[in-house]
Amino acid sequence: MFVRNFKFRLYPSYQQQKKLQNNIETCRWVYNKFVKFAQRSFLTRNDMNYMLTDLKQSEPWLYNYHAKMLQMVSTQLDGAQKAIIRLRKNGHKTGGLRFATHIQYRTFIYNQSGYKLEKHGHTDLLWLSKIGYMEIRKHREITGNVKQIIISKSRSGKWYAIATCENDNNILPKIDFKKAVGLDVGIKNFVYDSHGCVTPNPLNFKKSLKLLAKIQRKITRRQKGSNKRKKAVRWYQIIHERIVNRRRDFQHKLSTHYAKNNDVIFVERLEKLNMVKNHHLARSILDSSWGSFCNMLEYKCKILVEVPAKNTSVDCSRCSNIVPKSLAVRIHRCNVCGLVLDRDQNAGINILRRGLEIFRVTPNLSHIVNLPQELREVTPVEIRKWSMKQEKATKFIGSSSLKVELKNLV
Ligand SMILES: [Zn+2]
Repeated sequence: MFVRNFKFRLYPSYQQQKKLQNNIETCRWVYNKFVKFAQRSFLTRNDMNYMLTDLKQSEPWLYNYHAKMLQMVSTQLDGAQKAIIRLRKNGHKTGGLRFATHIQYRTFIYNQSGYKLEKHGHTDLLWLSKIGYMEIRKHREITGNVKQIIISKSRSGKWYAIATCENDNNILPKIDFKKAVGLDVGIKNFVYDSHGCVTPNPLNFKKSLKLLAKIQRKITRRQKGSNKRKKAVRWYQIIHERIVNRRRDFQHKLSTHYAKNNDVIFVERLEKLNMVKNHHLARSILDSSWGSFCNMLEYKCKILVEVPAKNTSVDCSRCSNIVPKSLAVRIHRCNVCGLVLDRDQNAGINILRRGLEIFRVTPNLSHIVNLPQELREVTPVEIRKWSMKQEKATKFIGSSSLKVELKNLV
C-alpha cells in the first residue's frame, strides 16, 4: 500500500474564505493551548485528546467546528514533538516548542470524514462539513481512496486542497537494471552526471534578491498598520511564492528527466546542516535545496541509492589516486594516469562507481532487480574495499514496498 497526495487549487467564495481562515485560527488557538503544556512535559496524543474534551467544556463555541479537525491538531503537535526529539538524538541543538504565529500556521486537516468530492455538470466541487460546497480545479484524476483532505493557504492568500489517497496496489514489477547514473550536486552546476551532462544551478533566490531588498525597504518606510504597507507586504510574499514555484518547477522537470531515462540512480549523501555552517555558501546551498530534489527523485525513479560522500571529489575516477584540491579548482588533473576532467564529472563517475560496488557486494538483490552480467560476479578484492561499516552507512531508497525490502538487506 502506498500513499499519494494530489494538490488542487480551491476557489472559495468570500464568505467561505472567511470561514476557512476562521478554521485555521481555531486550530492554531488549540495548537497553542497544547504547546503551553507541551513546553513543560511530553504530551501523548491521548493526553491531548483528553485536554481537548476538557477544553470543549469550558469553551462551548468549539462545538461549532468539525470535531475530527480539532482532534487532528494533536497529530500536528505530535509530529513537532517527535521532530525535536529526533534532532536532539542526532546531536543538533534545538530549542523548545514555540507558539505558532498566524504566518506559520496555515493548514487544517479533515481526516476520514466530513468531506466529499462531487461533480456538478462541468465543475468539480469539494464539500466540507460546516463550510459547504467550494469550487475545486481538479486538473488530474485521483487514483485510490481519499483518506483525508488538507486545506492550506499559501503565503499570498491562494487556497489549496491536498487529497491524501491510499492505493492497495502492492505488487511492483521486477526492475531491469540496464541504465545507471551517478549524480553530483553542486552550487555552480546543480547536477553534473557521470555521462557528462551539466545542468547549471538557476539560483532563483539570488536572482530576486535585489527586488526583494527593494520591497523590504518600502515595507519599513511605510507606516505600520497602513494599507500601503499591507500592500507592500503582500507584494513581498508574492515574490517569495514565485521563487518557490520556479524552484519546484525546475526540480520537477530535472528529476523527471533522470527518473525516466535511468533504472538506478546514485546520489551522494548530503550533510546539509554541516554545509550550511560555511557562511559564504549558506545562502546558495539553501537556495539550491538538493534535499527536495532528492525527495522527488526518490518517489519518481525505480531505485535511488545514497552513497557515502567521503572523498568523491578528491579520488581519481580512473585509478583511485587521491588528488587533493580546494573548492576553487574546477578541473581534476591526475598525475598518475593523466586523466583530465571537470571536477564535478569526476565526482559523478566516482558516485556511480561506488554505487555499483554496493550493488556488487549486497547479497539477495536478485529477486528485486535483474542485475546485468558484469555485476553478478563478485570479486573478493573489491569486497574488502568496502568494510561493513561503510555498507551500513549506505541507505537504499526506492519506491514504497521496495524501500522496506531493501532496508532489510542493508
Ligand atoms: Zn588517475
